[in-house]
Amino acid sequence: MAVACRLCHSTAGEKFLDLGTVPLANALLAPGAAAEEARFPLGLWFCESCFLVQLTDVVVPEKLFANYVYVSSISQQWLKKCEQYASRIRTRLGLDDRSQVVEIGSNDGCLLRFFQRDNIPVLGVEPATDIAREAIENGVPTETVFFGAKTAGRLSETHAADLIVANNVFAHAPDLHDFVQGLAILLKPGGTITVEVPHLQRMLEELQFDTIYHEHVYYFSLHSIEAALSRYGLAVYDAEAIPSHGGSLRIYAAHQSARFDASPNIEAIRRAELEAGLAHLETYRRFAAAVHITIGKLRRFFSQAAVERKRIVGYSAAAKGVTLLNCVDPGPAALDYVVDLSPRKQGLRLPGTHSMIYSPERVFATKPDYLLLLAWNLREEIMEQMKDVRSWGCKFVVPVPEPTILA
Ligand SMILES: [Zn+2]
Repeated sequence: MAVACRLCHSTAGEKFLDLGTVPLANALLAPGAAAEEARFPLGLWFCESCFLVQLTDVVVPEKLFANYVYVSSISQQWLKKCEQYASRIRTRLGLDDRSQVVEIGSNDGCLLRFFQRDNIPVLGVEPATDIAREAIENGVPTETVFFGAKTAGRLSETHAADLIVANNVFAHAPDLHDFVQGLAILLKPGGTITVEVPHLQRMLEELQFDTIYHEHVYYFSLHSIEAALSRYGLAVYDAEAIPSHGGSLRIYAAHQSARFDASPNIEAIRRAELEAGLAHLETYRRFAAAVHITIGKLRRFFSQAAVERKRIVGYSAAAKGVTLLNCVDPGPAALDYVVDLSPRKQGLRLPGTHSMIYSPERVFATKPDYLLLLAWNLREEIMEQMKDVRSWGCKFVVPVPEPTILA
């Protein structure tokens, strides 16, 4: 249980959400693995001083990433977004073959390859050994290490960065101070850091409680990310809302000493956050109450389906699906199985429900009644890919903000 904010050390705050004890969302089970996996408390705490939302209990990274299976380039839509981002930021910052791009949490190198295509030198930093090896085999230079001040100090001698990309890793750093300090060390005096984080405001407004899992230590607003960056002399000079992961913020930061002109977008987002109540504990209490109502509705969806002998297949073995299923806890027979495009995940089982993971093709052989879109953030892409399931009357179901059966 957190007693003080991990960023500003204030003790003024409250645990506002308790999702019980759940298994680690990315710890997929190999065949023959122990039937009972470890469970950890999952709850959120709001700091009334810096407005940072954080986990009450943090699991050490060595446990978290032990069975990490996530390959980002599997989604064509995702790859297209990577390409667009690389092209825009290259133009905006005027990057060329004398520049250095470093990506923290570079995964299999799918984003960095778009910079390499333009002859821009890159370096990936990726702690997951298997995925880092894949990146290296694909020709993307990658350091297999957790990022922090010490790593940054070593890398800054050879790879001081004109651009640091930190997409969807900020929330994962248990030691936020060490992480931000590392960014400040590795960044050249006139360099830019772009950070993408799921936006807390969207999570609250759309009841995206399934984005809360042990890997996500922090849930950022523009307010709290500015609070984190400013401690190490970094300042946000632009920000924009982007659709990734159900609604994210992309922020552009630099050394305060570089004195970039601040975009009017910053003030607009700050104001919208305050209007949405992000500075008030009451907003978080209301969110928690609404989450528990949605969990109740999901339980009723599963029990109703069981009464009607409808068969449900889950789409995606991603962390948010595992989190949703474990918070709802519909029982081991609630889902026939789940499907996922990643061959790395097929043949494994979900933690908690122990549902088997198969290739999406299996759906066409077993003809279930419902396809539950656990990866609701990719719903358009999945519904297009799976549209033929409608031929036998199978319906798509979106779980949040409340379970909805799509006609
Ligand atoms: Zn704080």
